[in-house]
Amino acid sequence: MIRPEDLLRPMPEGLYCPPGDFYIDPVRPVDRALVTHGHADHARPGNARVMATRQTLDIMALRYGDAFCAERQVAKLGETTRIGDVTVSFHPAGHVLGSAQIAVEWKGLRIVASGDYKRRADPTCRSFEPVPCDVFITEATFALPVFRHPDTAGEIGKLLDSLRHFPERAHLVGAYALGKAQRVIKHLRDRGYDEPIYIHGALKKLCDYYQSQGVDLGVLKPATVEGGRKGDFAGAVIVGPPSAFADKWARRFPDPVASFASGWMRVRQRARQRGVELPLIVSDHCDWDELTETLDELAPQEVWVTHGREEALLRWCELRQRRAKPLHLVGYEDEAE
Ligand SMILES: [Zn+2]
Repeated sequence: MIRPEDLLRPMPEGLYCPPGDFYIDPVRPVDRALVTHGHADHARPGNARVMATRQTLDIMALRYGDAFCAERQVAKLGETTRIGDVTVSFHPAGHVLGSAQIAVEWKGLRIVASGDYKRRADPTCRSFEPVPCDVFITEATFALPVFRHPDTAGEIGKLLDSLRHFPERAHLVGAYALGKAQRVIKHLRDRGYDEPIYIHGALKKLCDYYQSQGVDLGVLKPATVEGGRKGDFAGAVIVGPPSAFADKWARRFPDPVASFASGWMRVRQRARQRGVELPLIVSDHCDWDELTETLDELAPQEVWVTHGREEALLRWCELRQRRAKPLHLVGYEDEAE
C-alpha cells in the first residue's frame, strides 16, 4: 500500500519526490529541480539541473542570466518523461507565459502539483488544462469567499474610461513584471487602444520576450524620455512594477492617476494604503469560485493546500467530505500579484 507522501512530501527545500529524487519549485538550491513557472518565488537560481517548459527556462535565463543552472531540460507540454522510478508530465496552468502544472506518477498513483493557476481566459498564455489525479495540490492565494474577481474586461474598461475623462493626466499602472504587465497591455490592445504604451525599464526584457513568443503588445516605448517634458506623458498609459511607484521615478509624470492591477485590489484598505486612486482587480490566480469549481471538477481523492489562506479551503473540503490537508510550504509569496 503506497501513500501519497511516499511520492511527494514537503521538505524545507520544497516539495520533494523520493522515488524520482527531485524537488518541485525548491526555495533552496538542490541537485534537480522541476519548475512550474518563472515567478521569483517558484523559480530560483542556483539549482544544478532544472526541468521546465522552454518558455519558463527562457524566462529564468532572462531574469538570472544564462548561468542560472548547470543543466537545462526542456519539458514539452503533455509529454511524459521518466525520472528515476517516476513518470512526470507538464500541463498548462493558465497563470503566466510558460506556466505549467506538473503531474507525477508512480505505481498507479498520480499527484498533480499545479503551482499557481487560474481558470479565466488570458490572451497571453495557454489555458489551464484539468488533469485527472488522485491528489491535487492547489494554491490558496485568494482562498476566501470574499475574493471573487470581477470580469477582466470591466476592469480594463475602468482604465479606458479614466483615460477619456482625464486626458491631461498620466495613468500609471502598477503591474507585476512577469505576466500581469503584459496581460494588462494585451487586454488594452484587444479593446482597441492603439496609442504607444510606455513601460518602465524593468519590464523591457520580459515584454520583448512575450512579443517574440507571438503575444502582440503593440508599440511600447521607454517611460524615460531623456530631457523630455512632463507634458509628453499627458493622457498616456505608463506601466511599471509596483515597487517603482513609491520612488522618484513616478514623480516625473504629470498629475498622475495611480492605478494598480492586482487581485488584492479587492481589498479597499490595501488600495487606500498604497495610495491607489484607480484599483483594477486583475489577478493571475484563481478566485474562490475558480478554486472550488476546480476541486469539484477534478474530484481528487485528496487535496493538498499550499501558500495562501489554507483554512477556508480546508473547511470547504471538510464540509464536502473531501480529504484535504495543508502542506505548510514556506517561501511562496504572491503579494505583488
Ligand atoms: Zn506565480
